[in-house]
Parts: sequence; structure tokens; C-alpha cells
Amino acid sequence: MPRPDASSPVWHHLSGDAVAEHWQTSCAEGLSEAEVECRRQTHGENRLTPKPGKGPLLRFALQFAQPLVLVLLLAGAVTAFLGEWVDSGVIFGVTLINAIIGFIQEGKAESALAALARSVASEVTVLREGEKKRLPSRALVPGDVVLLAAGDKVPADLRLFRAKEMKAMEAALTGESTASDKHAETLPPETLLADRGNMAYAGTMVVSGQGAGITIATGDATETGRISKLMGETPDLMTPLTRKMAAFSNWLLMAIGALALFTFAVGLWRGESPFEMFMAAVALAVGAIPEGLPAAMTITLAIGVSRMAKRRAIIRKLPAVETLGSTTVICSDKTGTLTENQMTVREVVAGGIAYPVSGNGYAPEGEIGGRRLGNEAPPEPALRETLLAAALCNDAGLFKEGRHWQISGDPTEAALLVAARKAGLDEHTLLSLYPRQDELPFDSARQYMATLHRGDGGLVVYAKGALEKLLPHCRRRCNAEGQPVPLSAADAAAIERQAREMAARGLRVLAVARRGWAAEAVLEADSLIAGEGLDYLGLIGMMDPPRAQAVAAVKACRNAGIRVKMITGDHAVTALAIARQIGIAAEGEQALSGGELAALDDAGLQAAVQQINVFARVEPEQKLRLVRALQAQGQVVAMTGDGVNDAPALKQANIGIAMGITGTEVAKEAAAMVLTDDNFAAIEAAVEEGRGVFDNLVKFITWTLPTNFGEGLVIVAAIVAGATLPITPLQILWINMTTAVFLGLMLAFEPIEKGVMARPPRAPQTPVLDAPLVGRILLVSLLLLLGAFGLFLRELDQGHTLAEARTVAVNVFVLVETVYLFNCRSLTHSFWSIGLFTNRWFWGGIGTMAALQLLFTYAPIMNRLFATAPIGLTEWLEIGAFALFCGLVIGTEKRLRLGFARRQAVRNLPGSGRL
Ligand code: ATP
Repeated sequence: MPRPDASSPVWHHLSGDAVAEHWQTSCAEGLSEAEVECRRQTHGENRLTPKPGKGPLLRFALQFAQPLVLVLLLAGAVTAFLGEWVDSGVIFGVTLINAIIGFIQEGKAESALAALARSVASEVTVLREGEKKRLPSRALVPGDVVLLAAGDKVPADLRLFRAKEMKAMEAALTGESTASDKHAETLPPETLLADRGNMAYAGTMVVSGQGAGITIATGDATETGRISKLMGETPDLMTPLTRKMAAFSNWLLMAIGALALFTFAVGLWRGESPFEMFMAAVALAVGAIPEGLPAAMTITLAIGVSRMAKRRAIIRKLPAVETLGSTTVICSDKTGTLTENQMTVREVVAGGIAYPVSGNGYAPEGEIGGRRLGNEAPPEPALRETLLAAALCNDAGLFKEGRHWQISGDPTEAALLVAARKAGLDEHTLLSLYPRQDELPFDSARQYMATLHRGDGGLVVYAKGALEKLLPHCRRRCNAEGQPVPLSAADAAAIERQAREMAARGLRVLAVARRGWAAEAVLEADSLIAGEGLDYLGLIGMMDPPRAQAVAAVKACRNAGIRVKMITGDHAVTALAIARQIGIAAEGEQALSGGELAALDDAGLQAAVQQINVFARVEPEQKLRLVRALQAQGQVVAMTGDGVNDAPALKQANIGIAMGITGTEVAKEAAAMVLTDDNFAAIEAAVEEGRGVFDNLVKFITWTLPTNFGEGLVIVAAIVAGATLPITPLQILWINMTTAVFLGLMLAFEPIEKGVMARPPRAPQTPVLDAPLVGRILLVSLLLLLGAFGLFLRELDQGHTLAEARTVAVNVFVLVETVYLFNCRSLTHSFWSIGLFTNRWFWGGIGTMAALQLLFTYAPIMNRLFATAPIGLTEWLEIGAFALFCGLVIGTEKRLRLGFARRQAVRNLPGSGRL
């Protein structure tokens, strides 16, 4: 088998046939499966060898490049220098364990995210053994014939042998920001890569038209593979919130560093021993820095991402998890997202007569005009011609798998094939009688498609699409006898009336037209409508029922203060009918059409987006303006899209959402989230999860900060009072390490609280912690100071040893934190009202923590390592009583605050937070 190498042919200089011959393939049939298997053995899978990212060693080493770890390493070195071997051993040991935990957790989060990203694998249409197949891109081998359409990502390097109005965006490869025209002509050998119009290179995007090419290189042998410009595989784990928190930690580090230096100096000045003072400074630094915060946040976000994936929303960009919680407007497509995308033709109007069509789903069984036609074509010429046009101007497929009828391609077109078969018109027979010569592919900006066929009477073009796009170019209409007669203004008005009446019943209406064609003319949009224009044939109305889940999801969004807007390419009347059924538009509400939208200036549009919920006949480019207008109103916008022209709007939206099934690769690449089932309900679910994740993040922060502040306060208070440190740096390390993992992290698994979808979206500019939460953090910090310092002094007073008194102080921290953890499980409900056993991780964590704490207090080895000592029952009772007291104080504070907030909310009710 020939392999592409330095001596490989100059593909762009060879003709398509020569390339086919070189790869022993056929442009009409493609390769055989046996041949594909054989080539896969030689060439391997079509994927790029991932760039070696940060190796495990480097990733492990980077765990030590954090300010806190550096402080610890320094402390370890100094204590070793002073001959305190146990202390320095424990410090180094803890640092190592910390790095190992960080390394494992980070690796897990990264690989989970990368696996999710890969699960949205790109697909490609390939011709093999004469059949079109949809396969994952990685299954391609050299010689495969690939069919490309607008929105596809080119899966390998291809020599095009056919191209129709095809343009590709090659910025990834050439840096050129405008799309380049593609063709199938042979080019001179010296043509530069950027000018090779007859080649389509892996990683570039088809932005319009169609084409077909022979695979000449796959995987690492492609141009992209050679220059390995592909982005690294590792996803970015940072989000705005984690960045904010990392910055906060660093700021805190500076402040604490200064405070530590200050206490060190003050201590020395007062004549304390330098070692004691050094240990106090280290204790302060170790205690007061919330080192676990960034890691815990990443883990919480990663858990949110996997929860969303279970609910069919794949996050491609981590910050989207946070933004979802603040979303105020969701702009959704209609077809397939809010509706089932299960089209069934219900009515055909031809020659001025309406024929109802019966039958369900894609089974080609049913009556037309009250008759079961079987294999007989309808006797009415106009009806026959209309359905014949619909079946020929069509790229869909209909086939039976077992007992079920399946479709391939666009459901709108498949529905037309079904209707034609109900009228005895089989598309395969029709295509053999009227072979296709050329085509003008469907384009959502053009809103119609056309195909050129050779028939008995010469060449004929059939077109189908939106009535407004075709009717203005029709000069004649087909009468009931199938004869073309001039189309008067009154005829056109009657046709429009008829279409509106069908649309009002929620039917999606397509118009069908035809025209004769001269052999030498090229099929182009301009030439199609030029001269004598088109002959109007008829209307076809199809039903696409709303998704039952969408109705509930829209309602849930409304309750959550999120407006849902429908932005569709369909007709305004159809769109409004469906919007009413789903609950997006109320009776009497109006839609704004793309035409009207174009006439509005920016200010007018901003006013319109406040009122209007249904935007119809919108061209994809207009979606960008809509997103901007909404954002100018301060809205956080989630926008769905599937087509190639939707990409700019998806990028501009706060969250671009692409469809996993019907979406193009271009749309998926631009989106922050991909819906695996194309269903609107998944967006609502993701918003709910997003709010839940944000809540859990805030819960963790609220829970963790008092520990750090409390420890800091205890150290400062001891120094100010000239007392011995109630807790040593090692003991602080113990508290922080164990409680963050076994207590705090359990909050990341908290299920979504009741009522998250009953409150308005969180405004993005509001601080993460509001004033009441800051107040609570300070309250708990003071309680910790009071308990730990107070009981420590009391122990010493009663003649207990320093080790015993310190063990009591440490246990105060752990027990109060445990009690406080119950409180933090919900920021808005009391802990018993959320159910004690709704988070099974919670009790596991508490159990582990209790066992560890007993070891810490009673195991001789721990006593030696951490300078602790066993304590008696009285001490436990005192610590327990204090922890319960704290629980009561914090619980009462929460109760009072919630009551106050509720009263405030009732007062602010009218017009709260709604658009
Ligand atoms: P949405 O934007 O909500 O997904 P849509 O599918 O109607 O709705 P487009 O795909 O942009 O949006 O289609 C716009 C219009 O183009 C349709 O209302 C229909 O009239 C016409 N149309 C859609 N699909 C085809 C097709 N395959 N061939 C010809 N015309 C089509």
C-alpha cells in the first residue's frame, strides 16, 4: 500500500481520477470494508498522537510550587536545622501527602473532563461499498471517499473531486481568517498550501456548500499532524470563581506573611525564644491560609460536570458550570430542541385542492385525500407532480430496520419521502427515471434547496423551501390538471392565506416549485430565479409535535426567573402556534420576524427583546444581534444553535449550547455545552445543576474560612497575651488536612437543594459571600477562638499537661467544625429539614474523621508525632458541650437571618429580578 511520505505524489497537481487510481478506490463506490480493515492495519486510526502534555513527574513537582507548600518546606528545613527531627519529619511527610492527594485529584478531574470532551466525538459521512455511512472520524483510512457538507470539520487531508459552492475556514492551518473557495480543478505543482483550492485539510471547517474528496492522509500524516498545531488535550481547570479564590488566597498569604513577620518581631522584642516565635509565625501562616480551597473548588466543579453529563449536558468549557447558575435568558431553537423533530406530513395542497394525509411516524402507510393509494400514483397530476418534486429534491433516506422504519438525514425531508411513498412514489424508482445532475444545497439563510434532474422532457429543476423565499420568484402556477398557468396577484394572496391557515394549526409549511432548465446553464441561486422564474406546484404541511418534557422545563425556567425565547427559522405563525403549546408565548402575543428585526436599530432591538418571546424566520447571522441586544440589557444569555452560521452567536452568548445529534462540528466547537439528546429539558437540568454546584461552592467556602481565621486568631491572641501556643503548627496541619478532606469535601456531594429553581438567577457581579455569610464566618471564627483558647487555658489551670491542653484545643476545632458542617449542608434551610441521610458521603466522612481523631488523641505514635496526649471523659464532655453551644448559636443566627431574608423577599416581591 502506498504511504504518503516526502516522495508522495503532489496531490493537488493530480486529477481526481489519478488520485483515486493511486489509492485504488472509486469516487462512486468508495472502498470495500475488507480493504478498509487491511488499510487500518497499515495506517492505524485517524487520530493525532496526543502531544505529550505535562509528564506525571512534572505534574507532581508542580504540586510543590504553591505558596503554602513553600512555606511548609521552609519550616521543615528550619526545624531540621534546629535538630527538631520529629517536627521536620512530620512537616515533610504532610507536604508529601498533600502533594500526592493534589496530584491524584487533579489527574482525576482532568481525565474526567477530557473523557467527556472526547465523548462528543466528531463524525463524518463516508462512501463505502456504494453506501453513505456515518462514522466516527477516527475510522477513516487513506483512500476513503468522504462527503462534506456545510458545518463539517474536515476529518483528514482530502483531494476534492467534487465541490459545489464549497468554502472552508482554514485559519487553524493557514492563519487566513476568511473562508477560501474550494473546487475540484487540478492546480500547478508549486501552488502554496493556502492556495490549494482542490484540497481540504484536516481540522479545517466547511462553512458552506458541499463537496467530496479522497482521503490522502490520515492522523499524524496530515498537514495538521505534521505541524502539530493541534491544541493540547488537557482541559483548563480554571474558572472565574477559582481564579478569584486563588487570587484571594494569594492576597491572604501576603497579609498573613506580614502578620507572621510582625508577631515574630514582637515576640523577639519581648524576649521570647526565637524558636518559639518562629514556630508561632509558621503556625500562623499554615493555619490562616485556606490552602485546600482551590482544589476543593475544582473537585466540586468536576462533580457538577459529571452530574450534568448524566443529565445529558456535556460541558466543554468549565466556566460554563458557574455561568449556568446565573443564566437569565435561554434562547432556544424550535425544531428538535423544543419539538420532537419527528415530522409527519399532514396535508398537501396541490392545484388549489387540500389533501389530508393520514398515518403515523415514518411508516409509509396511510391515506392521501381519504384514499389508500398503495403502489398507484395519484390520478391528480398536480398532486403527483408536487410529491414527485418533494421526493426528488431530497437528500434523506428511509429504510426498515426489523419492524421499524428508520430515517437518515433531515427529518423534514424524510417526512416528504414518507408522504410520497404513501402516494405510490418511491424515491429510488423516481431517481432512476430522473437522475440528479446537480444540486443547490439547503442553506438556512437561503431557506430553500433545489436539484436538477434529467427527465423525458429534458432538464428540470425542482425546488422546495420557505414559501416567502420561493413564491416571489414564481411567475406561473400549476393548475389542477398539472398545466402551468400565469400566477396572478390574487392567486399569490390565496396561496399565502392557505399557508398561514396551515401554519396557524402548528404545521411547518414547505412550498414546492419547478422550472425547465437549459443544458448549458449552471445551477446557481441567481440563475434559478432569473428570467421566466419558477412554476409554483403546491404546499406541504407537516406536524412536529412539541416535546412533552419541554413544556415542563419551560415552566420550571419561568419559576426560576429565567425567560425562554424561541428563535427559529420557521414561519412566525407556526412558531407562535408551537410556542403557545409549550408555554413560551401567551395567547395574543406577537412574534418578531427576521425582516422586522433587520429594520430595527440597536436601541429598537433592545426594547423589542424585552417584550418579544418568539423570533421567527430569523437568519442565523441575526442571532448574534439578538444575543448582543440581550447582553446590553444585562442579561446572561444561553443560546442554542446547530448550524455553521450559528457559531458566532454561540461564541458571543454567555453559554453557547450546541446540539449533539443534529449539530454541526462547527457549532459544537464554538459551544461551551453540548446536549447529547438535543432536548431543551437538558438545558433546564443543567441550569439546576449549575445552581446546585454554585451553592456547594459557597457552602464549602463558608465552612472552611472560619477554621483558618479561627486558627489565625488563636495564634495572634496567644502571642498578644504572652501565652504558650494553644496549637502547634503540626497540629494545625493535622486539622486542616484531615477536616478539609473528610468533612469539607463532603459538601461537594450535597444533592441539589429543594427550591433552587424557585429563586431568581444569581447576578454575576454579586460577591460570592454576601454580608450575612461574612458575618457568620466571623461569628464561627470567634467561637473557635473562644472555645479553643478558653478550654486550653482552663486545662492548664486545672494542672493538666501542655500536651493534654493542646489536644483539647485541637478537638475543639474538629468538633465545632463537625457541628458547623451540619449547618453548612444548606445555606437556606435548617439541617433537619433537608433530611439527615440525603448525602451518604457526609456520614462516611464524619465517621472517618471521628476514627482519625481518636487515633490522634490516643494512639501513642500519634501522641509522639503530634505532641498530643490522651484526654479524659470530662474533657470530652466539656468539648462536646461547647460544640453543642456553638451549634445552637450558629443555628439561631441562621434562623433569624432566614426569617429576616424571607420578610425582605416578600416586601420586594413585585417585579423581583424578572426581565
Ligand atoms: P429552528 O431554527 O428552530 O431549528 P427550522 O428548522 O425551521 O427551525 P431552518 O432549518 O433554518 O429552521 O429552516 C428555515 C426554513 O427553511 C424552514 O421553515 C423551511 O421553510 C425551510 N427548510 C427547512 N429545511 C428545509 C429543507 N431540508 N429543504 C428545504 N427547505 C427547508
